Amino acid sequence: MTTPSIVTRFAPSPTGLLHVGGARTALFSWAYAKGRGGTFILRLEDTDQKRSSEAAAEKIIEDLRWLGLNWDNSGGVIPRQSQRLARYNEVIDELKSRRLAYDDAGAVRFRMDNLPGVAFDDAVYGHIEVGKGQLEDFVIKKADGFPTFHLAVVVDDIDMNVTHVIRGQEHLSNTAKHAALYDALGKPRPVWVHTPSIMNPDGSKMSKRDKAKVARKAALARIEIEGREAFIDRVLNVKPVPMYIQDSDAVSGNISDKIDGFIDSENDDILTAAVIALREGIRLPEINVADFRASGYLPGVLCNYLALLGWNPGNDVERFDLDFMCETFDFDRINKANSKFDREKLLAFNADTLQKMPPEEFASLLKEHQPRLATKLGDQFRGFAGMYQPRSRTLNDPAELGRFFFEAPTTYDDKAVKKNLARNDGEGLKLLGEFRDVLAGTEWNAAALQAAVEKFTADKQLKNMGSIAQPLRVALTGTAVSPPIDQTLELIGQQETLARVDRCLDKCKEN
Ligand code: GLU
Repeated sequence: MTTPSIVTRFAPSPTGLLHVGGARTALFSWAYAKGRGGTFILRLEDTDQKRSSEAAAEKIIEDLRWLGLNWDNSGGVIPRQSQRLARYNEVIDELKSRRLAYDDAGAVRFRMDNLPGVAFDDAVYGHIEVGKGQLEDFVIKKADGFPTFHLAVVVDDIDMNVTHVIRGQEHLSNTAKHAALYDALGKPRPVWVHTPSIMNPDGSKMSKRDKAKVARKAALARIEIEGREAFIDRVLNVKPVPMYIQDSDAVSGNISDKIDGFIDSENDDILTAAVIALREGIRLPEINVADFRASGYLPGVLCNYLALLGWNPGNDVERFDLDFMCETFDFDRINKANSKFDREKLLAFNADTLQKMPPEEFASLLKEHQPRLATKLGDQFRGFAGMYQPRSRTLNDPAELGRFFFEAPTTYDDKAVKKNLARNDGEGLKLLGEFRDVLAGTEWNAAALQAAVEKFTADKQLKNMGSIAQPLRVALTGTAVSPPIDQTLELIGQQETLARVDRCLDKCKEN
């Protein structure tokens, strides 16, 4: 006898975006099969017709591809349960004819009352026994003609020769039903592997409500200051999205009919949360794979981090890639306890990977992530990427840290002005005015600009280069922080630099 080869599957219900918990299930299923020469199948469980959508299905598929978890479906076809109704009906009829199922108020129920109890083994949670008293007949076909998840999942896993069912712990309580169905159909049960849930650090469930909570808190704080009507007015007044923010479907759509309810906690509308976040310049916690992608995380890093939620390779190794996962992943090192999602740790992993990679790779990933940024910067893009690589924790950081390259400051930070321009009778301001003339006659490259700053510092017997670099930073960025001043000047360009210096001088003289 030959051992049947390993077949695992990921079977999401296309009712929303791919949650990190689902992604981890997919990763475990993928790695287990890939590491053993097996087959990994993707299947869409759309028996809940009201909640399923094609758009969600497509987005889940896209996110799995982005993560690098490729499936081996034969002919490349992704089975959808909604297209297999005939097959489910065949099985339901068979169970009925054998009196293992019966009609009940338009639905069909599977009989559990004839069983003494159900016992099964789980690779993580061990041996589980469900006593007779806890077994109830359950629906396998709904009145709408669709099979329930319980029936479809078992029939599919049998038909697709699935040997290992890896899924979230919330399905552990369904498994006795599934075991009974396998037995009734005379098929060998698969190995069940239930994985612990992923929680927020405070122990709450990681869900889209977390986003609503953060946005609502920001809204209430603003309302306190400016009043409810003014706030809503401002939020609804949709301004064009700044170019450094990624295209996002969250930015289109109409929230006017939902915003009141959102503020009063009557709904957790995700679009409303996103628009408030955009207007208020706050970040919402990432929950779905798409959120982490939009926030500039790398797929390999996300997989690495997700793998560590509930599993470890058994030594102190924490950083690894998908190949390592395939080689080392097994069920014996999956924890029973729920795992906590530590955002700081994920961010540290991402920063480490971004900062250590070759500059060409960083530039090309950044370009892929924010093509509009690259287009806008043109020849300067490589310099820009190089300047921000050492400070980037996500691929969104360069555009955020460097937003002053695209937008001249409209206001100047008070503290920065006082300290660097106004102090000592406007000493900084005077120096800025003098240096403006130097800049007007300097060749425009980082080396020449650096030399000009040094010469000016020496000629004027300044304490150090900061005496002129800091006033310049305020004029160029509105704040006292920027990357090295020579690179900053070079990238902003001569004309724009002079214009910003002039505007700053004018504005300060007014006051
Ligand atoms: N469609 C189910 C879910 O998304 C999958 C259950 C399973 O993997 O058996 O939770």
